[in-house]
Amino acid sequence: AKAAGKHRWHRYQPRLHTRMKERHELQSAMDTAIAENQFTLRYQPVVDITDGEAVVGFEALVRWSHLRHGLLPPQQFISIAEETGQINMLGAWVLSQAASDVAGLQRVSASPSSPYASVNVSALQFRDQGFLHKVGDVMENSGLAPGSLQLELTETALVTDPAQTRSVMRQLRDMGVRIAIDDFGTGFASLRYLREFPVDVLKIDKSFIDGITEDSKKLGLVEGILRIADTLGLQVIAEGIESTAQRDLLTDLGCRCAQGYLFARPMTVEQGGHLLSRNGTP
Ligand code: C2E
Ligand code: CA
Ligand code: CA
Ligand code: CA
Repeated sequence: AKAAGKHRWHRYQPRLHTRMKERHELQSAMDTAIAENQFTLRYQPVVDITDGEAVVGFEALVRWSHLRHGLLPPQQFISIAEETGQINMLGAWVLSQAASDVAGLQRVSASPSSPYASVNVSALQFRDQGFLHKVGDVMENSGLAPGSLQLELTETALVTDPAQTRSVMRQLRDMGVRIAIDDFGTGFASLRYLREFPVDVLKIDKSFIDGITEDSKKLGLVEGILRIADTLGLQVIAEGIESTAQRDLLTDLGCRCAQGYLFARPMTVEQGGHLLSRNGTP
């Protein structure tokens, strides 16, 4: 067994080494990348499927426009940034950029209700000392309409330090910030958390939506989530809608808001502006 283990190590070492090198390389490039404006945001519309698919909000999704690797998706650098703590700096940049971009979109929006900005916040960033202050600063100085910032947290953020999380959430709510639970159903948060925490929105993870039209168990789970949300007075956003069949089923189930390639892919803020000034539907 020992020999086999040794053999395995030797076989995989080169690839492992390359991956570690790549991670290290991205890690050291990240500080300058922020200073040199290499990060960029895309915005995916959230639409109201009960109202002609009108845009109600924009979720900011970060990309790294890397000099040699091209446009890197978040999966390739968010976890690295979390390991090193660089997520605090990156997350702060995302928050202020998204707020000022969406403030600009609110100014061109023809619709009476302003689209909101929705920003992903990692659990680590949420627990950082400076986070609340940063959010307060953004609410005051970005030009974003009051009540139009939503923060997306995963269940991990809820369960890690419940007491502190609840206190931060309360202060956010006092600032008029809405809290959404991202990837809902994939983590470990119990229903108790939903009741005890000032949560406003549940985002049903794409993995529940995939196959919902064929798989009666998935359909049952989504019905369950919608019922829970209804009972607790929470809004719901279904993620990853790719077909009209999925959209129609969700509409029948009473789900109001959705996101997905069927409606719109993540787009630049300029494209978002065109969308809103046209007629507000993708
Ligand atoms: P997420 O928050 O669950 O975002 C949804 C992801 O699914 C996005 O990928 C989006 O482009 C993609 N998506 C949306 N609709 C569809 C669809 O109909 N079909 C398919 N196949 N995919 C769809 P993206 O932009 O690569 O982001 C991946 C994840 O990275 C996000 O998952 C989020 O957890 C994280 N992320 C992105 N931006 C940030 C950020 O600024 N901060 C933090 N902490 N995490 C971020
Ligand atoms: Ca999200
Ligand atoms: Ca998701
Ligand atoms: Ca996520």
